[in-house]
Amino acid sequence: MSVHYLDNNATTRVLPQVMEAMQPWFCEHYGNPASSHPLGQHARQALIAARACVAAFLQAGPAEIVFTSGATESNHMAILGALQANPSRRKIVTSAVEHSSTLRLLAQLAAQGVEVVKVPVNHLGGLDMPALAAAVTPDTALLTLMHANNETGVIFPVAEAAAIAHAHAVPLHIDAAQSAGKIPLSVGQFGCNFLSFSGHKLHAPKGVGVLYVRKGAALQPLLYGHQERNRRGGTENLPGIIGLAAACRLAQEHMNAHDAGLAGLRDRLQSGILSSLPFARVNGSEPRVPNTTNICLPGLHGEEFLHRLGQAGIMASQGSACTAGGTEPSHVLLAMGLSREDALSSVRFSLSHETTLTDVDAVTGAVAAISRQMMPGLLVA
Ligand code: PMP
Repeated sequence: MSVHYLDNNATTRVLPQVMEAMQPWFCEHYGNPASSHPLGQHARQALIAARACVAAFLQAGPAEIVFTSGATESNHMAILGALQANPSRRKIVTSAVEHSSTLRLLAQLAAQGVEVVKVPVNHLGGLDMPALAAAVTPDTALLTLMHANNETGVIFPVAEAAAIAHAHAVPLHIDAAQSAGKIPLSVGQFGCNFLSFSGHKLHAPKGVGVLYVRKGAALQPLLYGHQERNRRGGTENLPGIIGLAAACRLAQEHMNAHDAGLAGLRDRLQSGILSSLPFARVNGSEPRVPNTTNICLPGLHGEEFLHRLGQAGIMASQGSACTAGGTEPSHVLLAMGLSREDALSSVRFSLSHETTLTDVDAVTGAVAAISRQMMPGLLVA
């Protein structure tokens, strides 16, 4: 059975070129970049080169790049570090549709007395900008917003959000875990103070990520130690960092060359499903990242549908968390005003530049066939 992997927002395949770049740094060049002997200095030079490469990817300076274990850690470092750096400000502003790594931390902070304001989104997944403008006040320690939503792909206007934040001298953190590698990133254009992303969303391995920290931005470390200019302790994950740098370089090449191709394939998949299932509708509207579509198939049991897709070799997912009490509907779709039933009937397809026309056509056909099996009376074109 051939596998069609359309779950690239969950994680991506490590590219062979990335694997190749990492390989020598496990058994051959295994020095610690902090050691002064030649093996350590060789590692140090590689770390410097990787940092320059990641900085170029964000249009940042090398000294502004902090390597972390991934976006979860980067998000924690930005939020906790900004609160600690500015103890007189006890408020964090965010959106209702952030990733759980942000929302769960903020719930914990709220229980400790930090004021947390979650700005709503409209039915298309767009951020309520007047509500954002009202929420950000001079006592806000941080505005933290995702760039692209992991479930719908909807892109928030981060540069406009930065203007609102900076009018009150409030720092802005962007969670770019779902935009890195899909659309060009420029920390200068965004006007952000901090930006997070994870390697494994752009074909690097799991367990490595970045926090961009604007020069001069006040931030306390999460992990203490001498590494990363005293901003993030712990011996650097050099193979992972080298893989991340290679993946950033390749992603930039792909964005330069194939961006229209990826959006074209996503649109073909989306319109193929919509035309064969007239009751289906897309959750979220443009602007979106070019690889994501989230489709509601009202009346269909999403979990069962995904199970059948999986049996047909198609990997997709549902923006939901499995809890002891069963599947919970996605907080993102509920925030957009979907009913619990419609949220549970929604599925996400996320492509990568490795996705082919064959994948898309196989998925389109299987979606129609499985929907027909599950709802025999269904009108299928
Ligand atoms: N933010 C967003 C928007 C994400 O999609 C993810 C991963 N699903 C994360 C943060 C966390 O990334 P990681 O699990 O690699 O730490």
